[in-house]
Amino acid sequence: MDMRALENAGAHRYPHLMTRSLTIGRVRGIDVRLHPTFGLVFLWVIIDWRRLGAGLGAAAVVFTLLLILLVFACVLLHEFGHAFMARQHGIVVHDVSLSAIGGVARMEEIPDDPRVEMLVALAGPAANLAFVTALTPLVLLTGIARGFSTLEEYALTVFDPSLSGLLTTLLYANVLIIVFNLLPAFPMDGGRIFRAALSTVLGRDVATRIAVLVGEAFALVLLVFSLIVVQSVILALLALFIMVVAYAEDRAVRVESAMRRLRVGPFALWDMGGISPDQPLANALRGGPRDIAVTKDGRVIGMLWRNTLLVELAQTAAGRTVGQVMEHDPITVDINTPIHDAQQVMRDEGRWALPVTEAGMYRGMFTGDRFLHIYRQVAPDPLRALRAAIERGPLQQFRG
Ligand SMILES: [Zn+2]
Repeated sequence: MDMRALENAGAHRYPHLMTRSLTIGRVRGIDVRLHPTFGLVFLWVIIDWRRLGAGLGAAAVVFTLLLILLVFACVLLHEFGHAFMARQHGIVVHDVSLSAIGGVARMEEIPDDPRVEMLVALAGPAANLAFVTALTPLVLLTGIARGFSTLEEYALTVFDPSLSGLLTTLLYANVLIIVFNLLPAFPMDGGRIFRAALSTVLGRDVATRIAVLVGEAFALVLLVFSLIVVQSVILALLALFIMVVAYAEDRAVRVESAMRRLRVGPFALWDMGGISPDQPLANALRGGPRDIAVTKDGRVIGMLWRNTLLVELAQTAAGRTVGQVMEHDPITVDINTPIHDAQQVMRDEGRWALPVTEAGMYRGMFTGDRFLHIYRQVAPDPLRALRAAIERGPLQQFRG
């Protein structure tokens, strides 16, 4: 029940950043995917069997499975609420995926504009609210058919393996989804609304930090509560999930603000002038096949892409010049362009390298590899950092 931006550009280029999910369908251009952990839900049914209706036989099994499918359909509805609202505001939505712990609408970016972020965050719970509104008359009808006259009678049918039980449980589940998502704890939708409201006053970085802290504190309380008071594994997992996602969001925002602060210049691969368009094609292979800027009088006039070069050389290269196969007037970036912007250009235009200029003159190349390098510096892998700390730690000293 979370909307999440892809961590960086061209995720398709970095398979390790992608979730290995199974695509099960497509709704108005948005893929619906199942995360492998979704299978855990059925494991949970077996583990939590006692409370869900042991001793009630096959009907209870069918009821439980049907209920789970319907509840997840409501989670999907919630995510599509986010997804469609985001798309309405020009944000590219990649897919909506379901895992054991809920759903995620993965979009190209989380809107910077607090007003848009608030609308997108509200759209999820609003979708469930619309569903509740539509469902309520049906629940009332089936209740009246069974002669119910008090609210308590309805409440008692929750988890009851019957039609009215199913509808009432569904209603109950949607109310829970709404309430739970509106908790002002990051990464819940309520946390995003909270963050968006704070950012109008405090700026996005500080607002995120505060929202994350509130989220972590809330998750800690939930963890203690779930382990000591109600002893629920599911709640404890949820608390851990909130902690991890809150941490990840904090990290993503810190990375983004660093990428907006850092400039392309210091990170470009400095180059001695590129290649002239009159050069024979074979000369472009000197120094190994790579993407090369084509320059004239120090200015970038073209790009000779490594792939084009290799394809052309495989055919007849004799007598052909760089100018004949280069891309004309390629996109360039200035040394003072923020890395964030350069990376957006690379993502939107599907480029792996951008020529960097200073006052119009060619200076060097900014590549996807450089970006990954900076990314790893700015956002060190916490597990790798931990491993390094352990290796450097007291164990090492004992051995030494
Ligand atoms: Zn949501």
